[in-house]
Amino acid sequence: MTAFTIAIVGAGPRGTGVLERLLAREPAADIHVIDPFPPGAGRIWRGSQPPLLWMNSVAADVTMFTDDTTVVDGPIRTGPTLAEWVLDHVDTLRADPELSDELERFTPGSFASRTLQSRYLGWVFERAIAGSRAHVHVHRARATDLSADGVVTLDDGSTIHADVVLLAQGHPDALASQRETELADFANAHGLTYIGPGYTADLDPSPVPASAPVLVAGLGLAFIDWMVLLAESRGGTFARSENGTLVYTPSGREPVLYAGSRRGVPYHAKLSYDIATARPPLPKYFTADAFPGDGPLHFRDEIWPLASKELAWAHYFELFAAHPERTTGSWADFETGLAEIEWESEELGRFVEQFVPKDDDRIDLARIDKPFAGVRFESLEDVRTHLDEYIETDLRRRADPHYSSDAAVFSALLSVYMTLGELLRHGRIPAHSVATDVEGWLHSFFSFVASGPPPERLEQLLALSRAGVVHFLGPDITFTAEDASFVARSAAHDVVVHAATFIDARLPVASIATAGDELLRTLHARGEITDIRATEQSAAKVAVDGHSRLITASGEIAGNRYAVGPWVAGHTWSSAFPRPRTNAGFFRHNDQLAAELLGHRNDREAHLESR
Ligand SMILES: Cc1cc2nc3c(=O)[nH]c(=O)nc-3n(C[C@H](O)[C@H](O)[C@H](O)COP(=O)(O)OP(=O)(O)OC[C@H]3O[C@@H](n4cnc5c(N)ncnc54)[C@H](O)[C@@H]3O)c2cc1C
Repeated sequence: MTAFTIAIVGAGPRGTGVLERLLAREPAADIHVIDPFPPGAGRIWRGSQPPLLWMNSVAADVTMFTDDTTVVDGPIRTGPTLAEWVLDHVDTLRADPELSDELERFTPGSFASRTLQSRYLGWVFERAIAGSRAHVHVHRARATDLSADGVVTLDDGSTIHADVVLLAQGHPDALASQRETELADFANAHGLTYIGPGYTADLDPSPVPASAPVLVAGLGLAFIDWMVLLAESRGGTFARSENGTLVYTPSGREPVLYAGSRRGVPYHAKLSYDIATARPPLPKYFTADAFPGDGPLHFRDEIWPLASKELAWAHYFELFAAHPERTTGSWADFETGLAEIEWESEELGRFVEQFVPKDDDRIDLARIDKPFAGVRFESLEDVRTHLDEYIETDLRRRADPHYSSDAAVFSALLSVYMTLGELLRHGRIPAHSVATDVEGWLHSFFSFVASGPPPERLEQLLALSRAGVVHFLGPDITFTAEDASFVARSAAHDVVVHAATFIDARLPVASIATAGDELLRTLHARGEITDIRATEQSAAKVAVDGHSRLITASGEIAGNRYAVGPWVAGHTWSSAFPRPRTNAGFFRHNDQLAAELLGHRNDREAHLESR
């Protein structure tokens, strides 16, 4: 009798995480792991990428191991965080010339390079499979097809017959969209350069010319990567002046970047402190139980009001607990008012002002989301003055525990995502709303507030702005192709900027029908996989049921095919690396999946016995 066989397509952090949970159960099984990139790190975290790129999580906050806070059915298998692992292996790692400089300065609070993280992930994979009772077969190949009876075809010509298949394909490539194709054609026709969305490990900065103006769409994490690739990676240096300011000395090979986005500001720097007192007991209002019944929920009318109240509650909980001198009255009275007075009413506004007199201590989510809404600028110099001040304030705030309420809001955002996950699993959020409201607006808000770059990167951005290497375009920017050049305009001022080079600094918009990946396109064309897309511009992600099983185009559940990761609708909340000691959703989801996958062994045995 052949062994019970599982195939996992994709050996990045997610595929590796599920594999670890499978092996923790010591199954007698054959497990095939398929990925053309190194297992553990996979494509995004492969070692071969520019060395100056960093993670945006501090090393002490990254783990691939369950701990005693993790609530899972499978066994807990503890292991080191990234920081602990680096410190344990520092002597061996120092021998690697790519890492030796970084290791001189490394502390658990460091933002590790992606190269260092790739070493950790490779080790995690090796450790997971070492001594395992299951047979793990690694295929450095790409899966190109999957038949209904579980035959996986690889591009090296081999096939795998699996009882159950998990697709953990991570960040999918997308074929160029119509707009991207038009921009590329326009660039070709006029001798210009257009660089479309991409993953940093795959980006080639060499076509971007030195000293010439370059338009950059986006100020998120992809922009930060571009900033590194086009300035410091081209030989410029940062140094502290006598008064402590970071100063950039150009190499002369940098372009002149003109960068803008809808908000017009970069993502907030990562917080350098934690909650000052007790962790707020979350969730408070925004729980799955707060939505009785099983009907569809409206995001703006039902979900966001309660979710935003949760964020505000966490903010004030921390303010009253850690900084009582900035509040008046008792927390008990305040909490009662917050619970009883209509959310977002003028009455509530007046009530909060009574208890929290200073504007700076009150939370205003709309202002956080659009910091320059309604502001008019005179010139790009005026934009720069505002932006430099905004970034300086952000850097101060993100380093000063005076604002520890920001850390409580961060916790509440994670809690909101957990509840959203439950609502999604119970099918309470309609597919269209998952795509526009959750994957679209909320995820952008979350990334902006809670998933920004290391503070050092924003300091570097300021230094580049002062050195004239980066110019900010302001908010509400449109980029067009006109009269043989690329053009940027803002709704907030009258300056028009022309350039011969245009970079779309963002990740590709996920799409299954037009995925760069042949397996996904093929399954989609046959109707064996279906995607959810709200608008032409929004991501189209794979639809799964509450057990992570694929849903076919005709709405059937594919019994033995599962999908997980950032390319799966509703999974965005759990795509970051888990933080230690937080009962992270990553482990709970992986553990559940491992149990589901192994559950097919019983089906198979029952099937064999019945023959
Ligand atoms: C540029 C970038 C930076 C990030 N930085 C951070 C960070 O600092 N901190 C953080 O917490 N999160 C970060 N993230 C979030 C990211 O989602 C996770 O870190 C993680 O990479 C997700 O893991 P994954 O395994 O789901 O996807 P991936 O890492 O994308 O892995 C999926 C794997 O599937 C493989 N694959 C796809 N199709 C096939 C096929 N047909 N056949 C075989 N193999 C296939 C790919 O080669 C890849 O190795 C970042 C994401 C990006 C894109």
